[in-house]
Amino acid sequence: MWRTWGRTELATPERILAPSHASEIQDLVREAAERGSTVKPIGAGHSFTAIGVTEGVQLRTDRLHGLMSVDRDRRLATLGAGTRLAEVPRLIGYYGLAMENLGDIDRQTIAGAISTGTHGTGSRFGGLATQVAAVQLITGTGELITISATENPELLDAVRVGLGALGVLVSVTLRCVPAFTLAATERPEPLAAVLDAFEQRCDAADHFEFYWFPHTTTALTKTNTRLPSDAGLAPLKRGQRFIDDTLVSNELYRALCAVQSGMPAITPMINRTADKITGNRSFTDVSHRVFTTRRTVRFKELEYAVPRTAVPDALRAVGQLIKDRDLRISFPVEVRSAAADQLWLSTAHDRLSGYIAVHRYHRDRDTQAYFDAVEEIMLDHDGRPHWGKLHTLTADQLRPKYRHFDDFLAVRDRLDPHRVFANPHLDRVLGP
Ligand SMILES: Cc1cc2nc3c(=O)[nH]c(=O)nc-3n(C[C@H](O)[C@H](O)[C@H](O)COP(=O)(O)OP(=O)(O)OC[C@H]3O[C@@H](n4cnc5c(N)ncnc54)[C@H](O)[C@@H]3O)c2cc1C
Repeated sequence: MWRTWGRTELATPERILAPSHASEIQDLVREAAERGSTVKPIGAGHSFTAIGVTEGVQLRTDRLHGLMSVDRDRRLATLGAGTRLAEVPRLIGYYGLAMENLGDIDRQTIAGAISTGTHGTGSRFGGLATQVAAVQLITGTGELITISATENPELLDAVRVGLGALGVLVSVTLRCVPAFTLAATERPEPLAAVLDAFEQRCDAADHFEFYWFPHTTTALTKTNTRLPSDAGLAPLKRGQRFIDDTLVSNELYRALCAVQSGMPAITPMINRTADKITGNRSFTDVSHRVFTTRRTVRFKELEYAVPRTAVPDALRAVGQLIKDRDLRISFPVEVRSAAADQLWLSTAHDRLSGYIAVHRYHRDRDTQAYFDAVEEIMLDHDGRPHWGKLHTLTADQLRPKYRHFDDFLAVRDRLDPHRVFANPHLDRVLGP
């Protein structure tokens, strides 16, 4: 039995295998193609959707990990596709390199993160898949191919956000940047003013985001400024980090969520307290320690990318929805941005994007009505759903959102003609 981190999906694969060599995977894929069976590579199981669910062979990628090579001059690092993001700083830091941008956490595998279009924040920076210069992929016929600017280049914009539909990624080559530090400023500010100035705030900062606790009028803003690696560090003291990030953000928060789940009426009062005890600090640390945090309170999440200009209206509409329906929402709404990119199924394809993510505690009941209503608002604002987070869209609804949707399907036909990597979720979002 396998389940996702958010406890949103269960699977009982026919077999679970953890190969360590490409040749083992090639044999497995060929055998599955002959038997008319399926294979599903899986990373850390941090997607909320059924994108990684299989009744066929589940292929765990933990043993495809570690640093395979580094080209220091070109700042390229090739890593096993199952390498956890948390391991990357240590592996490439030795060479004075870092990943250009990261999301909220670092538990995911590189392959899982890029395959669903995982992103962080920063209007001049793309999602993690835009950092990928090349991959090695095993196709649905068991062929091992390299895809880069010089080998099979026509496939690069499809495979970088490939939804696990095109093959098994064996290695990923990242285009890195010189190691850097981040100066972080976290402040509570009036939500209305933050929304009014949202676009300017995004443009003025390297990395800007905010959290809004429903039932409050406060935004907890986070502004990160990139500095060279030799800028002095002023990290959070160990005790402070423990209190803020472990006790308050996880342990106390878990207890509060559990109480609210049984007594939703007290949610507004607790949220008003939460926005006072979190988010007022400044520190400077190495980049990955600022970008990522630990999240141990389990939740369910829906996130949409909208044109960045639409963020303030879309968020105000979410606020109005919560008021009109008298909902009790304990988890904060997270708002971020990313640069436009050219990856075919990237949620930021061709447009400067803002991201709005809504969450519910994993034990909350009746979460679907909230997610459905927020989804409707996001669709009214030309939204595109995150591929790893909850949404209800089908291929017919997704096609008009992506200029290269049918090109992606043509690549799928070419790389996985027997649908070895299919599952019901991909049937829904891509078609059979
Ligand atoms: C607590 C939490 C925080 C998160 N924060 C963010 C965030 O800040 N930003 C954001 O954008 N998203 C975020 N996410 C979503 C998450 O980054 C994505 O769902 C991501 O796909 C998870 O990576 P994974 O390794 O768990 O992949 P999985 O969920 O295991 O797999 C995802 C997909 O990748 C495919 N895949 C995995 N390995 C391979 C491989 N080797 N070859 C081919 N396909 C493969 C799978 O088949 C599946 O289709 C968060 C999720 C959680 C639970």
